[in-house]
Amino acid sequence: MSKMFRTVRGMRDYLKEDRWRLNYVNSIVRELYYKYNYDEVSTPIVEFFDLVAAKAGAEIREKMFVFEDKGGRLLALRPEMTAPIARLYIENLMRSAPKPVRLGYIGTCYRYDNPQRGRYREFWQAGFELFGSDYPESDIEILNIAYDLMGKLGFTEFKIKIGHIGVLRSFFSVIKIPDELQDTILGLLDKREMGKIEEIMKENNIPENAVKLFYNILNLKGKEYTTIINQLNNLLSEYPEVLGEVEKFTIILQLLSKLDIFKKIEVDMSLARGLEYYTGLIFEIFVEGLDIAVGGGGRYDKLVELFGGEHTPAVGFAAGIDRLIIAMDERNLFRKPLEKKILITPLTPRQIPACFITASKIRELGYKTEVDVLRRNIKRALSYAVSNNYSIIIFIGEKEEKENKVTVKKLDSGEQHTINVEEISSILTPVVNRY
Ligand code: AMP
Repeated sequence: MSKMFRTVRGMRDYLKEDRWRLNYVNSIVRELYYKYNYDEVSTPIVEFFDLVAAKAGAEIREKMFVFEDKGGRLLALRPEMTAPIARLYIENLMRSAPKPVRLGYIGTCYRYDNPQRGRYREFWQAGFELFGSDYPESDIEILNIAYDLMGKLGFTEFKIKIGHIGVLRSFFSVIKIPDELQDTILGLLDKREMGKIEEIMKENNIPENAVKLFYNILNLKGKEYTTIINQLNNLLSEYPEVLGEVEKFTIILQLLSKLDIFKKIEVDMSLARGLEYYTGLIFEIFVEGLDIAVGGGGRYDKLVELFGGEHTPAVGFAAGIDRLIIAMDERNLFRKPLEKKILITPLTPRQIPACFITASKIRELGYKTEVDVLRRNIKRALSYAVSNNYSIIIFIGEKEEKENKVTVKKLDSGEQHTINVEEISSILTPVVNRY
């Protein structure tokens, strides 16, 4: 008996409706690439392990699909897109392109996650990356795109949680926590493993008052950003290096407070992300009913340099398309255009060319048009068209062919006309579709 093959665990086929939903979201993402002047780029699915592992963070690093190629090179399926896009920037654009450089991408990523709702081993990310500016307006631009995307997809209720890794890292540095340990603590914070953080603090003899201060910082959250900033300034008054980072965060919040997006913003100083490349602002987008983020991003000013490029500040974000689709489905946000399908049936094989010529004319008008390829007779063609939601059926028989005519039957009204081929556009008004 032959073997039945199935999709690999955690990976999915996209049938008609699924693929349509994916395309629908992608077309809105692409509309934003255009409107914000981002150039869409793509990179290979396979990268050198060292590149994607460098700052992926312990959790993602462990979940990578890693393999050796026949040349003995250690490769991996990309677990996220920022590192590959930073590589692409250095390899192709850093020396030649005027700054800032705005890049967009839509692609699949791979992580050996435990498959469940909203968590797959192959999933789609759509992102925006802005290279070359460390001014807060570039942070604002990225946040604004995220806000715009959510609105354009149809979401009204969503939250953008924002935090600042620069504040946390500079605090860690003044209390002498080395970079690697910082990565570990931030990774645990992302997973809310507070017990383990406490253990690490103890093991590394971090003074109790510093640990207490750290927890006090983490507890700052809410919509009242001025209160949070005041508290940060008070808590950290003895650490001028950290206050510099607080000041950067303050400026971002002040700018945001003047924009529409502000009503969706919630500050959360305990926000951390698994990826280790973040240096400043970080954020995650949440919708009701899904406790995992539908998107996230932040500032990563040292990644390009780490990959051998020149110092290039950068900020970006990625939306998790699969999770957005789940949330959109739950809210009924997909808007299907009313589609008009047309079936053209030759009554004998001799009318096949006439059917194809007519089909081309109708496709030009924007209709989804098929020529029957199963040689159905009138009766069977009609019942097939009715039960499969065609709106119009067109017959071409010998008589029609001779007179250069077609018989058009509208299935909703039952109306039927035999008209000249050239007159088709007078009864079929042109339609515009989102594919
Ligand atoms: P990250 O690269 O971890 O910041 O993820 C960015 C976005 O990708 C997340 O907010 C999720 O929406 C999405 N994402 C991450 N991992 C998965 C997964 N295993 N399955 C589906 N979506 C994911």
